[in-house]
Amino acid sequence: METDTDVLVIGASPAGISAAIASAMRDIDVTLIERKKGIGDPPHPANTFFDGMFDRTGEIVRSEYVTRNIEGMRIVSPAGNKITIDTPGYVIDRRKFDRHYVKELIKNNVDIKTGVSANSIIKKKNIIRTSTDDRTFTSSVVIIADGIRSNMSAVSGLSPTKHPTDIAWAVEAEVEADGIGEPDHFEYYVGSIAPGWKATYSPCGGDRAYLGVFVRRHGEDVSRFFDRWLAKFKMEKELSDLRIVNKHIGGDPIATIPNEIVADGIMVTGGAAGQSGIAYAMRAGEICGTVAAKAVEASKTSRKMLSEYQRLWGKEFKSEHLLGRSALETLRKMDDKDIDRLFEIFAGVDVQRLVGSGSPVTKAIRVMRFMLQERPRSALSCLAPIIKAGYL
Ligand SMILES: Cc1cc2nc3c(=O)[nH]c(=O)nc-3n(C[C@H](O)[C@H](O)[C@H](O)COP(=O)(O)OP(=O)(O)OC[C@H]3O[C@@H](n4cnc5c(N)ncnc54)[C@H](O)[C@@H]3O)c2cc1C
Repeated sequence: METDTDVLVIGASPAGISAAIASAMRDIDVTLIERKKGIGDPPHPANTFFDGMFDRTGEIVRSEYVTRNIEGMRIVSPAGNKITIDTPGYVIDRRKFDRHYVKELIKNNVDIKTGVSANSIIKKKNIIRTSTDDRTFTSSVVIIADGIRSNMSAVSGLSPTKHPTDIAWAVEAEVEADGIGEPDHFEYYVGSIAPGWKATYSPCGGDRAYLGVFVRRHGEDVSRFFDRWLAKFKMEKELSDLRIVNKHIGGDPIATIPNEIVADGIMVTGGAAGQSGIAYAMRAGEICGTVAAKAVEASKTSRKMLSEYQRLWGKEFKSEHLLGRSALETLRKMDDKDIDRLFEIFAGVDVQRLVGSGSPVTKAIRVMRFMLQERPRSALSCLAPIIKAGYL
């Protein structure tokens, strides 16, 4: 039966855009609908990544959207002890980044419709009907990439994340102060300053930086943690004239873990599916879009056929995501003194050398092995959920 398009993508998130491009590259008709009037307008606050993450996408980092090159990160304990990891990172102009990918969508003949919001998804035989305020789209496959709250997954009867209550709620502000943007490493502060994850300082060059908190299991309003972080930051950096330029709030699904991400004719990707971060979401979207296109080519869009996406994603990312969740959960359960003790293990250690090269899981295992020798109890509490899930 005729449909309006082969693949309909809902949401121009990094995952949605990558999925649309990946499908369209296989000569499949793709339509992308986005609720906002313009893609990336207003821009999403996510605007940093590291080489090690972006390499996973197979994309090249473009100077046209990079505003600052960073040399690495410092992880700072409650007592102020630091672990430095040198690894190239970037601050990007998110508007320009999204604009670059809009050009790619156009180049690949994706039909882009902005200012269009999906309301419901209904499956009849092999056709998916997605209704918006103005019209209904018919397609063989729908890819849901509508971000963390994912109403479209809910209306499709899917629970796309295993731990939906574990979203890290965030407040991030662009700030200005003399020389605040000059340091060449991002700083991530852990402990009660931002329970469950991190308080961030991302220098953007000159007098500009971003300060943020990402907090888990303390409700969606985490502004009190941000206020505390701002006060601590101003005091420690001796900055009395710091000005807030703008502030964003939002959620990051860092520890939520993908769950049901396929059904007959329906796939979920990106933040909606617990695939957090710009680069990880882009790669997940690419896998999703490629599998969708192959299913359309074979005229087989059943759950079984589309499950190839879940399988391929799992092979590439599942153990990494479980390891990440496990580390964040361990961190959330530790008090500031425990965290400081953990940092003491690494005093005088060349962490860069210890971590070495290889996949993130290989690197994590090296660190765990070192911790097992030095602090067996902390290391075991990190590893337990992964061993239980059968990934080690
Ligand atoms: C404050 C903050 C800072 C962050 N910083 C970083 C960072 O520096 N680096 C990093 O890698 N990650 C960062 N993250 C995490 C990152 O935002 C996400 O994991 C990543 O961008 C993936 O985006 P997403 O899939 O959640 O979708 P989103 O980027 O939220 O996109 C979803 C899109 O779908 C559209 N949409 C929603 N519903 C509908 C509908 N019904 N119909 C049509 N369109 C719809 C929305 O308008 C939106 O454009 C940050 C998160 C927050 C909250």
